[in-house]
Amino acid sequence: MSTTITEELDDMSAHTLASQIKMPYTLTPGQATGIFIAELAQRRLIGSRHKDIILVPAQDFSGIDGEPASGFVEVAPVGSVTAFTTTANGTFAHILIDGSSTPFVHRIIGIDAKDLSVGTRVEVIWANEASRTMMDLAGFGPLGSASSFVPRDAPEDLSAPLEQIDYSLTLDYNHAYGPYYGTLFDGVKSDRRVRGIKCSECRRVLLPPRALCDVCFAPTAEWVDIAAVGTIQASSIVHIEFVGQRLKPPYVYAEIVLDGTSTRLIHMVGQVDPEEAKTLAAPGARVQAVWSDRRTGSLADIEYFELI
Ligand SMILES: [Zn+2]
Repeated sequence: MSTTITEELDDMSAHTLASQIKMPYTLTPGQATGIFIAELAQRRLIGSRHKDIILVPAQDFSGIDGEPASGFVEVAPVGSVTAFTTTANGTFAHILIDGSSTPFVHRIIGIDAKDLSVGTRVEVIWANEASRTMMDLAGFGPLGSASSFVPRDAPEDLSAPLEQIDYSLTLDYNHAYGPYYGTLFDGVKSDRRVRGIKCSECRRVLLPPRALCDVCFAPTAEWVDIAAVGTIQASSIVHIEFVGQRLKPPYVYAEIVLDGTSTRLIHMVGQVDPEEAKTLAAPGARVQAVWSDRRTGSLADIEYFELI
């Protein structure tokens, strides 16, 4: 049986899905960092004083000993590289601003990595247009005229701190499914074919398929075609909105056991009034998959399950 699986798996395509995690959020920078970011638009670099220590970017409390900030300092927009790395997206370095105690990470612009070493002197490169974010400081490049700048304690006309900054964290990646999930999702995408796999010992059919049975730990051995028809085991009504939902709440979420399988699949039940769902989409109700026009190669290709 395992030979059959190997041959079948070799025929399968890439088993990966282009995926994205996107997280929009609001950053509350606090007073000191809020002033630091606001002042970047004025092309001033502001540090915070904590007794004998100066921190750039300015902080409300020192990360070294917890000392609160007693005031602000406008520092020279120059510093030294203390470490650096080169990536496909450019060179990034730890920059220690003159007079400050801890370095921070930023981009190197206009200096070839081969000309960079620990100790290389660099100067701020300002963004052409202010965006009121950290990127108003575009990066650090070759030393220019700013090296003669003398730090100023208690700079005048400090900007009000930014209270909130809109950010969005986006991660693009390829989800590698591996041969078992990959075989299922390739079949779902190309033929709307749902396949589970049977345990060689206890004969349970597992969906999604996997290499080992999670009840008796024996290897799985035999692919089984499964009709996208099953029975609700448990259901819940979702009222809360969150990012990434395909249906607008309220809607029914259910654990569904497809006929012939021993595992529960979590999916949505559509076309049912959420109030009536308490009785209609209760445990024991029969459902069938409604396929979507999308072909993503995931269980999202099932739009929802509908009551039979
Ligand atoms: Zn088993």
